[in-house]
Amino acid sequence: MLDELKKELENCTKCPLHLGRNKLVFSDGSENAKIMLIGEAPGADEDKLGLPFVGRAGKFLNELLEKAGIDRKKDLYIANTVKCRPPENRKPLECEKIACEGNLFKQIEVVKPKVIILCGSTAVETFIKDKKLTITKIRGQVFEYKNGIKLVPIFHPSYLLRKHSTDPDAPRALTLKDLGMVKAMV
Ligand code: SF4
Repeated sequence: MLDELKKELENCTKCPLHLGRNKLVFSDGSENAKIMLIGEAPGADEDKLGLPFVGRAGKFLNELLEKAGIDRKKDLYIANTVKCRPPENRKPLECEKIACEGNLFKQIEVVKPKVIILCGSTAVETFIKDKKLTITKIRGQVFEYKNGIKLVPIFHPSYLLRKHSTDPDAPRALTLKDLGMVKAMV
């Protein structure tokens, strides 16, 4: 159902990110999924393959999902705030996010997830406008979006790759707990 939009965006020039695009990174997973996961932006591996979360962070995300009992291909629809890779893996600029957000909102409209996992601060900032609410403060909490859709912020797997502690209150364990909560919500 979103195939047409994807095809259209393969030639999108609405923001400067198209200049460095090798492949459009539109989505992965199932359009029938009850859980949607929104990340930041494609990196080098994603840009090469045209799929989100396929690099090191993506592999770590897969491990966490598996431990939480979430099937990446069946239970999840994955997208990013922007569909083209920012240069040198920088964060997408506000103007780039705004240029691309209509596409993300269209994806949500079609998929109609019950829960949206906001993966990292860039995804959080797209939906939760209060700058005081940093990811560390609000991870694992449930926010309302619209039409009954819930938002759950979690740490980004790239951040978790730099946090090795296995303590029960360390970021890795907390993220696993958050994913378990999401699984129980659907
Ligand atoms: S990031 Fe989005 S708005 Fe910018 S060129 Fe790519 S598809 Fe178009």
